[in-house]
Amino acid sequence: MENKLSFYNTLTRQVERFVPREDGKVAMYTCGPTVYHYAHIGNLRCYIMEDLLEKTLRYIGYDVKRVMNITDVGHLTSDADTGEDKMLSGARREHKTVMEIAKFYTDAFFDDCAKLNIKTPDVVEPATNCIDEFIHMIEVLIQKGYAYESGGNIYFDTSKLDEYYVFSSQSEKELLVGVRDDVGEDTNKRNKSDFVLWFTKSKFDAQELKWESPWGLGYPGWHIECSCISMKHLGEYMDIHCGGVDNIFPHHTNEIAQSEAYTGHKWCRYWFHVHHLNDKSGKMSKSKGEFLTVSLLEKKNYDPLVYRFFCLQSHYRKPLEFSYDVLDNMGAAYDKLIKRINTLDKDGAIDEAAYAEYRKRFEDALCDDLNSAMAITVLYDMLKADISDATKYALAKSFDEVLSLDLTTAKVKKDEDGGVDSELEEYITGKIEERRNAKKEKDFARADAIRNELLEKGIVLEDTREGTKWKKI
Ligand SMILES: [Zn+2]
Repeated sequence: MENKLSFYNTLTRQVERFVPREDGKVAMYTCGPTVYHYAHIGNLRCYIMEDLLEKTLRYIGYDVKRVMNITDVGHLTSDADTGEDKMLSGARREHKTVMEIAKFYTDAFFDDCAKLNIKTPDVVEPATNCIDEFIHMIEVLIQKGYAYESGGNIYFDTSKLDEYYVFSSQSEKELLVGVRDDVGEDTNKRNKSDFVLWFTKSKFDAQELKWESPWGLGYPGWHIECSCISMKHLGEYMDIHCGGVDNIFPHHTNEIAQSEAYTGHKWCRYWFHVHHLNDKSGKMSKSKGEFLTVSLLEKKNYDPLVYRFFCLQSHYRKPLEFSYDVLDNMGAAYDKLIKRINTLDKDGAIDEAAYAEYRKRFEDALCDDLNSAMAITVLYDMLKADISDATKYALAKSFDEVLSLDLTTAKVKKDEDGGVDSELEEYITGKIEERRNAKKEKDFARADAIRNELLEKGIVLEDTREGTKWKKI
């Protein structure tokens, strides 16, 4: 097939044409959530844009297999032997077991995804399912001389690699300063950038979940999860690995280090990263201010799809600034868009040439480094164009396979006062007139069809001596 999609590859630091290993097939991996708390909408921005990438690939004809892990064990606040275990602190906070917490927040994560129309990946694998695979990979890394035991833990030896900082043009020294600030001193390490593959000794409180291993009772480090889970389901090669920009270092850097040391060959050629959600003061985080979740947006009367619409209006490689004012504007624009599409007469002939032209424009926008804002502009242009309603409706339905904004299925919101907007009123009046003419011409089938068409949209007609009246159900 024609390879027309381009996007920014963090590995080569440029927008590149995407060419998968196997024609027409894409093996894709996404770092999943750590399930100790509700997902922040900032993290969900990342999943929305990854969903857009997956759906774009499918839309232009690729067969995609997408895998995601669920981090339900360990994952310290930093990747070293310090900090707090997120799962354990979550469990303590809520007086539940670690596995109860994991189950609860995994479900909550997928509920949020469903509300945002984010497709569930083809394979979702919790880390606790794969302990044997982690142990096996670590054993191989030790055999190959890439890992060592020190102070009871198993570490990856980054000095054994020709290139460790694969993503960065920064000097190693600059990054090492970052590592030092982040995790403090771990005297067991041979090199500052080494990271833990398996813990048996930890400086902080006991981990609730532990497994037998050749190195004693313990639990895996975070990075090993993604290498093992991706290889379990996608094999030793993959086409696209996704994540948030936060994951570039150290998480993805370490994933590459251990995966390529393990297999002895290049692992993944395309790395897709989504930027932060910010507020005026900078990166939004749970540590300051309001913890923004999908449920909180709903409580404040925002449709979660308005948040998706908001994300799609911005490029994945740019930080996106969140404010309720902007979300209000997006909400109004979204409602208007839904109303506009709702008034289209979906019955009638489709203009194939116009359909093909707008579909191509839509694909071109997405294929140009996933320009979702431009794709939405194509949608608006199409709705304004001089083409039949049926063609517009069919295109909106087609675009929605990627945009996933419920363009043709969302309920039109009633205005505050329970009235309807003038556009809808004009449409209904037109339909009543059309029905009157049909009756005059004794085309009762057509008249009934119009009545039913309006009924589908929640409009009931009532014939009176003064003419036909209508009301909303
Ligand atoms: Zn990962």
